[in-house]
Amino acid sequence: MAERAGVSDVATRVINIQSEDETGAFGRRLGEAAQPGDLIALTGDLGAGKTTLVKAIAEGLGIACGRVSSPTFALLAEHPHGRVPLYHLDVYRLTDPAQLYDLGFDDYLRRADGLIVIEWAERVATELPDERLGIIIDLGGGEHDRQFHLAARGARALELMKAVC
Ligand code: ADP
Ligand code: MG
Repeated sequence: MAERAGVSDVATRVINIQSEDETGAFGRRLGEAAQPGDLIALTGDLGAGKTTLVKAIAEGLGIACGRVSSPTFALLAEHPHGRVPLYHLDVYRLTDPAQLYDLGFDDYLRRADGLIVIEWAERVATELPDERLGIIIDLGGGEHDRQFHLAARGARALELMKAVC
C-alpha cells in the first residue's frame, strides 16, 4: 500500500468570503487550475452557494456561461466543451450512495478525463476516492458571508488547493 502512503494526510485551509463576486473569483481560479482526474466534493446546506461555485468553476474551465444550472433533478450534467470536461453531480436526491454507479460514476473515475464536482458529497462519502478536494461551505453572519473550509487529500488535491489560496 506504499502508493497510498500520505493519502490519509489532510491539509486544510479556511477562506472567508464576503460577496458572491468573491465566490465567483475563487471558483474561476479553481476552474483555471483544475486538471483531468480531479474531484471536488462540495458540502453545504441548501442555498449555501454550491451551484454558484460550480458555475464559476465552469467559467474558469472556459465553459460557456449560462450552461450550468442546478442539476438537482438531472443528478448529472456533462459539460464536455471546456479546457477540461466538467462532470457536475448533485446527489441530493439519491436514496442510497450505491446509486452513484447508476450514473456511471465509476466510468468517470476510471476515465479520469475530466473534473468531477459533486454537490451534497457527504451523502456519498463512502463511495468517494480518498484523493479529493473537499469544500464545506458554511453560512456567515451577513447575507453574503460564507466560509469555505477546504480539505485536500492526496498530492494532486494539495496542488489544486495551493493554486487557489
Ligand atoms: P446551493 O447549490 O448550495 O443550494 P446556490 O448556489 O443554488 O446554493 O444558491 C446560493 C444562493 O446564495 C444564491 O441565491 C446566491 O445568489 C446567494 N449568495 C449570496 N452570497 C453568496 C456568496 N458569497 N456565494 C455564493 N452564493 C451567494
Ligand atoms: Mg445546488
